[in-house]
Amino acid sequence: MSALNAAAKAALKAHGVSQAEWARRNFSSGRWGGDACGCPDDRCIGYHHDDAGDCGCLPALLADPPAWMSVAGAARGRTA
Ligand SMILES: [Zn+2]
Ligand SMILES: [Zn+2]
Repeated sequence: MSALNAAAKAALKAHGVSQAEWARRNFSSGRWGGDACGCPDDRCIGYHHDDAGDCGCLPALLADPPAWMSVAGAARGRTA
């Protein structure tokens, strides 16, 4: 799996995260190895959900940012 679907692209764009950055943040190789829905699990579609546009993983990952996003946010100054 090497390409993200339209729903994944839209979700990333809404969070200001490029496809390339999302790939780098999830895979040390910098190449996307997850599923087309944007989940780092390459067997998400058909396992976590049936439809390509119905992924709960990506929104959850984007809404609950890992440490690297918190660090980046802190560097720009707190907004909360
Ligand atoms: Zn998933
Ligand atoms: Zn998914």
